[in-house]
Amino acid sequence: TEEADGDETPVRWFRINTIRCDNAAVASQPWFGALQRVSSIDEICQPGVIYHDEYIPHLYGVHPREKITSTQAYLDGQIIIQDRASCFPAHILNYTPHQHIIDACAAPGNKTTHNASYVAANGVVYAFERDPKRVKVLKLMCDKATGPQRKLIQITNADFTSTNPSDFDLVTGLTVDPSCSGSGIFGRALEEQDKEEIDTERLAKLAGFQFKIVKHALLFPGANRVVYSTCSIHPHENERVVVDLLSDLQVQAQGWKLDLRNRVLPKWPRRGWKEEFSAVAGGDEAKMEELAGGCVRAVPKEDGGIGFFAACFTREPRSTA
Ligand code: SAM
Repeated sequence: TEEADGDETPVRWFRINTIRCDNAAVASQPWFGALQRVSSIDEICQPGVIYHDEYIPHLYGVHPREKITSTQAYLDGQIIIQDRASCFPAHILNYTPHQHIIDACAAPGNKTTHNASYVAANGVVYAFERDPKRVKVLKLMCDKATGPQRKLIQITNADFTSTNPSDFDLVTGLTVDPSCSGSGIFGRALEEQDKEEIDTERLAKLAGFQFKIVKHALLFPGANRVVYSTCSIHPHENERVVVDLLSDLQVQAQGWKLDLRNRVLPKWPRRGWKEEFSAVAGGDEAKMEELAGGCVRAVPKEDGGIGFFAACFTREPRSTA
């Protein structure tokens, strides 16, 4: 997911890069100590204050005009600027521990490096990116984030759907953050709201591609958790892709289900759109509520950053017996 424009974002979010340092190493720096603590994002009205996020570990919010990119911590890769909602997928995936993770659509690498912060020193995040130009950016970002621990991330310039799942037997978790309409990114969201109608043909094409790429992720033999995300506000690319996957007979036969709210950022209040689950829930209101509750949404600006959607497919871990 692309990051929000600095001038427009209501909050500038950064996370402490725990691959390179611990919280104390950053918290003890003078610029950090000089910021006054506030207890909600509504209090971030001017530079000079800092909010410690209640949903994502090691994540902080400051005013967009706060000069954090000139701090040594930023230049050294000790802190990484990343929108709060963009931190949801790796956090949701790593609700259960994983040592081998795939990030299927990786560049510029926000979720790749965030995933890498959850695996232990001998773990690996395999990052796939189809676009060679974007791979260059991905490499730079991963090198900066990992420093001497470069082996934590292995980058491949390839179409993820051309990978052979059985070559990645040890992989138990995947994040899939494919190209989308980007309608949750401020400028674009507002432009679209001005239009009378949305481009349903384009959204149908995107949804087809998103379905295909997540379905491929669900084929990995050892996988028990797959997080799908977009920075779109449209149900076509969000709940409807999830519903299509839940309705797919092959996906069902492989034992995949939608993970429920208690394991998917449970305290985050904004959840999926219930009505979208009507068909798959056979009109059962409680089931619709349960499935929608498994999805997470963020509304652009109102929720402190970009518009976003995430959902997690899960199944029993493979038996080792
Ligand atoms: N996850 C990234 C992050 O958080 O920094 C943002 C990913 S961006 C929304 C989608 C990326 O997926 C683009 O860089 C695009 O080139 C790449 N992509 C699209 N289709 C792909 C495919 N089939 N295989 C690998 N990468 C793909």
